[in-house]
Amino acid sequence: ATPAATMVGTTIGAQNGVLFKGGDVLERAKDVDTVVFDKTGTLTEGEMELTDVVAFDADGEPVTDGGESAAGSGEPAADGGEPTDGSQLLARDQPSESDVLRLAAAAESGSEHPLARAIVEGARERGIDVTDPDEFENVPGHGIRATVDGGEVLVGNRKLLRDNGVDPSPAAETMERLENEGKTAMLVAVRGSERSENREASGDQPRAEGDLVGVVADADTVKESAGDAVAQLRDRGVDVMMITGDNERTARAVAERVGIDPDNVRAGVLPEDKSDAVEAIQDEGRKAMMVGDGVNDAPALAVAYVGTAIGSGTDVAIEAADVTLMRDDPLDVVKAIRISDATLQKIK
Ligand code: ADP
Ligand code: MG
Repeated sequence: ATPAATMVGTTIGAQNGVLFKGGDVLERAKDVDTVVFDKTGTLTEGEMELTDVVAFDADGEPVTDGGESAAGSGEPAADGGEPTDGSQLLARDQPSESDVLRLAAAAESGSEHPLARAIVEGARERGIDVTDPDEFENVPGHGIRATVDGGEVLVGNRKLLRDNGVDPSPAAETMERLENEGKTAMLVAVRGSERSENREASGDQPRAEGDLVGVVADADTVKESAGDAVAQLRDRGVDVMMITGDNERTARAVAERVGIDPDNVRAGVLPEDKSDAVEAIQDEGRKAMMVGDGVNDAPALAVAYVGTAIGSGTDVAIEAADVTLMRDDPLDVVKAIRISDATLQKIK
């Protein structure tokens, strides 16, 4: 493109909240044949809300069906009688939903992760006094390991539990149900509790190093224009993909909601593996635009043919990106490609 055309394109972009980092990016964008969206914060609002709390008894059975639970009503939890603190739960066989939520919130209260914030906020809204953990360790891409009232508490995905010697399978049905609703379901387990010691003494599940006590779930809202953006890209012949650290089932439920082919979903991708996933897509000969908002996404934005940071994206993402979308609107991804197209066509 001539310097004049580049200037016009860059200016039109800026007027539309689409910032191109240079003339070469403006030229490249029109050739993008695949758009890879990050899920959380890009296709979704990234504002999690606690939606479900399910407690499991010592036999691994859900105490309630979790449907119209106290946790879902926004009212202070009134199930299971007297509220207990964590230490009592660790000694009891029959946790209530509020016990599970109290433990999960205490464990998560040191974490900045959006999933954690939603659990803590949801607990407070339900009248639970959230205590600080004695210790906590963030396990990136998996969850949290914390010490609450002297007991070890795990909150996270199936792998987190397995890696810590706790069998997540009693919660399989509950997890699947919540994930099919597009929610991120997290397991809550305690280790070294009297409960697991009792069980070990009785010869039940002798190998288990801990016990599953519950499941909590957070939901995120899909951005209003996400479906339109996907449809418009597909109309242009652009393949649309999604990449996320979230599990396959949740990811597919969200993909379905916005019109992304389930085969185009890359789920369970660890933060450090996102850029490899984008490279793998490009190794198929595709020209990929990666669209993301988080620190996690920066390396993937850097390796993409065009890296696009969206909305209130972190500085790190913006730094690594070729294009910054000032608004939080996925439709501006289409706009960026259109502006590139129009700019380059004018000079023909
Ligand atoms: P995303 O790419 O959606 O931001 P992450 O890579 O941060 O996801 O995490 C992947 C998965 O690990 C989450 O879906 C969740 O199951 C689990 N996880 C991560 N952090 C936490 C946390 N603080 N509490 C509970 N679970 C977590
Ligand atoms: Mg994100």
